[in-house]
Amino acid sequence: MLIYLNNHNYRYETENLCRAFFPNEKLEIINSDSYNEDILPYIFTYADKSSVKAGICSADGNLFIYDNTINENDDAELRLEQCLYRALCDYTGISQPWGILTGVRPIKLFRKLSDEKGADFAKQYFKEELFVSENKIKLAALTESHERKILNVSKDNSFSLYVSIPFCPTRCSYCSFVSQSIKQAKKLITPYLELLCDEITQTAKIVKKLNLKLESIYIGGGTPTTLEAHELTKLIGCIRKNFDLSACREFTVEAGRPDTITEEKLNAIINGGADRISINPQTMNDDVLKEIGRKHSAQQTVEAYNLARKVGFSHINTDVIAGLPTESFESFKSTIDALIDLSPESITVHTLSMKRSSYLTADGMRLYKKDAEICSDMVEYSINRLLESGYHPYYLYRQSKMLGNLENTGWCKPSKDCYYNVFIMDETHSIIACGAGAVTKLKAKNGVIERIFNFKYPYEYIDRYNEQIERKGRIEEFYEQYKM
Ligand code: SF4
Repeated sequence: MLIYLNNHNYRYETENLCRAFFPNEKLEIINSDSYNEDILPYIFTYADKSSVKAGICSADGNLFIYDNTINENDDAELRLEQCLYRALCDYTGISQPWGILTGVRPIKLFRKLSDEKGADFAKQYFKEELFVSENKIKLAALTESHERKILNVSKDNSFSLYVSIPFCPTRCSYCSFVSQSIKQAKKLITPYLELLCDEITQTAKIVKKLNLKLESIYIGGGTPTTLEAHELTKLIGCIRKNFDLSACREFTVEAGRPDTITEEKLNAIINGGADRISINPQTMNDDVLKEIGRKHSAQQTVEAYNLARKVGFSHINTDVIAGLPTESFESFKSTIDALIDLSPESITVHTLSMKRSSYLTADGMRLYKKDAEICSDMVEYSINRLLESGYHPYYLYRQSKMLGNLENTGWCKPSKDCYYNVFIMDETHSIIACGAGAVTKLKAKNGVIERIFNFKYPYEYIDRYNEQIERKGRIEEFYEQYKM
């Protein structure tokens, strides 16, 4: 479908908004003031100093059009998006739960507005200017109130550490992560770990010199528990030996796939001092698990969970995904019910995102209105059930191409909020990252953010290790440059 930008450059938001309504269409942006009436339907947008106009010309030539005048203090881009949103709603018969908001961090915006003019203003702005639904405004306000408590603990010299283990037993069909299946990559693990420990050691020296304070640690992936118990001991031992953990509030290991979890590995993790673990069923329906390429059963999730309790973990998170292929509302409902019965400290409810490089997208799976409606019912069910079961939302983010343009929300029991998740999503302080695919995100006091990318794949990480360790030198320069 063609999208005309006439007399303006609001390309990014225009395209994102159109994509929310037409997730399966190929969209092409054209800067032009003349529209080709032979290629229908098309979307048009226009802005000048005093007015904006947007609409869609349907296949049978009908126009769905909105316009607005621009006053001196108006945000022309916002006014244009509002016109476009209204036209797209009329044309498709669909409204979006998050209105015209297409960004990753709606809670950050809600907080900014609350800080500037109060929570009531933020709610009103979300409703009247951004067209966010009542349910999502309530969710945003509640999440923000819990996030705020966590954010307040961070200081100017705080940072969190991320360590990447980019290996998995097999690749899930919805995943776009660069993780390597363990079968292909087994021989890489030993050299990878050697270099990773070196990177951790070198990074810790920089952090020490800068006198930074470690707030939280997250070992993620991939599936860190694809490592053997002795390898986990080595990795965690290396972190402990090199970083000062005396002020560290939380140490998470994302175990991930239940079929990789053993008592020996859990002991290695807990004895190393990690206090939070994530065991991710994604669904408790075996047929759906098979469909998405996960080689474990719901029973294995329960066994891994019970094992983690037996070993002594008092903070377990479980991840689920709403909208997985072949999952019905009833089956999702029983997944949520089963997890609440298990009573983990946190449950993270994701919405399926159709990532470009996933097998699902490659196989031609499409996002349809009916799937979006069912997914929305699933997410609403999870919200109501979790709230009445004593969980609260503590962080929330969105991705592109999510089913129903919904959201991912982390829920937890009182005082069990995950610091790391809040810090990374809010961009509160620097996240210093080690390992393949890891991205260090430096944050200055004035809000400037700079990224340092490690190589994506383990073999690249190994082959070009020296290059990326050199890049880490930028951490010191950054802190000097911004006088922190
Ligand atoms: S376990 Fe996670 S990282 Fe690994 S393939 Fe599945 S979704 Fe991707």
